Amino acid sequence: MDCIFCKIVEGTIPSRKVYEDDDIVAFHDIQPQAPVHLLVIPRKHFASLDAAAPEDAVLLGKMMLVAKQIAHEAGLTADGYRVATNIGANAGQIVFHIHLHVIGGEKLAGINA
Ligand code: C5P
Repeated sequence: MDCIFCKIVEGTIPSRKVYEDDDIVAFHDIQPQAPVHLLVIPRKHFASLDAAAPEDAVLLGKMMLVAKQIAHEAGLTADGYRVATNIGANAGQIVFHIHLHVIGGEKLAGINA
């Protein structure tokens, strides 16, 4: 399968990793949209949240907690940052391996702005 995030998981293309464990990898987005812009991905490939199965519940929860951990390590606090996932082309998804964006470090526009 030709998936760029699977290649990041395998290490066959480089990334600036900030976290990894047996299930999850997190790294800096190559085109940051804010002073902090990190991505959290599972090692397991599935296209998006829409393709998640009931057995992915623990993994999805763990991804959320890793998002919080790396946000804090990047200096973000409960004062304000965003964890978001795009589902499908109409939502702007361009890499079809589920990922959480962790975005912050400045005042963010509201999600409906
Ligand atoms: O949610 P969406 O699919 O649009 O986001 C994909 C993200 O992956 C983009 O923000 C893009 O900059 C990032 N990316 C990356 N490293 C790559 C390819 C894409 O950080 N090698």
